[in-house]
Amino acid sequence: MALKRVLIANRGEIAVRVIRACQALGIETVAAVSAADRDSMAARIADRAVCIGPARSSDSYLRIDALLATALGTGCDAVHPGYGFLSENAHFAAACVENGLIFVGPSAENIRQMGNKLVAREIAHEVGVPIAPGSPHISEFSTARAIAEEIGMPVLFKAAAGGGGRGIRIVHRHEELRGAFEAASAEAKAAFGDDALFLERYIGNARHVEVQVLADAQGNVIHLGERDCSLQRRYQKILEEAPAFDLAQSLREGMRETAVALARHIGYRSAGTVEFIVDVDRGEFFFLEMNTRVQVEHPVTEMITGVDIVAEQLRIAAGQPLSFTQSDVRTEGHSIECRINAEAPARNFAPSPGRITEWAPPQGAGIRVDSHAQRDYVVPPFYDSLIAKLIVHGTDRADAIARMAEALAQFEVGGIDTTIPFLRQVLAQPDFAAGRINTNWLAGIAEDFIAEQAEEPHA
Ligand code: ADP
Ligand code: ADP
Ligand code: MG
Repeated sequence: MALKRVLIANRGEIAVRVIRACQALGIETVAAVSAADRDSMAARIADRAVCIGPARSSDSYLRIDALLATALGTGCDAVHPGYGFLSENAHFAAACVENGLIFVGPSAENIRQMGNKLVAREIAHEVGVPIAPGSPHISEFSTARAIAEEIGMPVLFKAAAGGGGRGIRIVHRHEELRGAFEAASAEAKAAFGDDALFLERYIGNARHVEVQVLADAQGNVIHLGERDCSLQRRYQKILEEAPAFDLAQSLREGMRETAVALARHIGYRSAGTVEFIVDVDRGEFFFLEMNTRVQVEHPVTEMITGVDIVAEQLRIAAGQPLSFTQSDVRTEGHSIECRINAEAPARNFAPSPGRITEWAPPQGAGIRVDSHAQRDYVVPPFYDSLIAKLIVHGTDRADAIARMAEALAQFEVGGIDTTIPFLRQVLAQPDFAAGRINTNWLAGIAEDFIAEQAEEPHA
């Protein structure tokens, strides 16, 4: 069986990415767009576009009823949720299936299990995946103090329902526990409608390493190696690379094996990512979470493996078995992705929506740009600030860094502020080239950048 027509339940670059993958497979597409995205690239390149509601996400991209009605009314047989929005919403996945639509992703049950970090930690532990010292659900603040004492400072409060770096608070001293507890639970309640928190040991010198898995409905589970996503600001990824460099073989193999074991154990289907935190000083890795969707940074894996992850998602959703085995997977060279956001890095990364008056993305061998932007495109203020992903492929890490630096220098955007100047500064750091980085490193570079810009207001 093959899919005939897919509803794209998302916007921005990932909507464009999924439509292109459908086109390559001969699948028709219907773009579900908000009123703010009527003239978007996704609306233009899809076979059809249907407006599902006003600009606000809660009135459009998050409206399960409107999306289902659109899918059914336009004769779609499947729905691709992209990332963010409803991609990790178990109710949406279940509602699709109940209405006879194929949800391009895992089962609602798997989304529910992995969508709660506490449940996911428990399942990971059952399968033998190492988990960081932490707590169960902390319902009363009074229990937090004793648990923090046991784990040892610093600790993190994390939202069980968390995602996108929200609902995470670091605590260095016992006096800060209550304030952090209250702030994290309020943020979790507002962002996820669920204020459940737990504690985890904070690993200071850490790298974020994640394993891409693919699993089909026949029970075949493979991995496509790992990515390093340690360059983060406020727990959000800014730059990602594949493969993860300078990693002990035992750690690499441990993460690969446990990621596949976890996916197999829960009967996972589709593309998914198992995220780990690597304690660099102790040479240990711990399970963070599993993202049950395509990730923003999937292209770096595609560049080095040659596997089209979105096309595989679509084939798997149609019931087709993976066309290759683990031993067929080979990687070549090194890939880096930079997230280009419509933000003013000099103004503490404030959003910078508005009309793009100039748009000249770099071109050339080993360069890929995933974007929905173009000249005269107006970046709406309502959504995520990602306007493009710049991806390069080099023969090795040094070559990829050189190509990225050159590609960023060529990338001309006018009319709005972007993170390009900041990314150029990151790429120019000797510590980055030497791989002397961890999950805290980028925050320091960002502070320096903001301070320098404040000194030269006309630069
Ligand atoms: P990735 O894990 O693919 O790197 P991010 O963490 O950057 O993805 O998230 C991708 C998008 O999804 C962002 O727009 C982010 O705000 C959003 N997002 C991620 N998780 C959630 C969640 N649980 N609820 C709401 N939005 C989320
Ligand atoms: P989210 O669902 O928001 O992506 P994660 O659990 O994946 O939440 O954590 C996001 C980021 O927070 C990680 O990539 C890492 O940089 C940091 N982080 C999470 N847990 C820890 C920890 N125990 N120690 C140090 N940093 C952590
Ligand atoms: Mg995460």
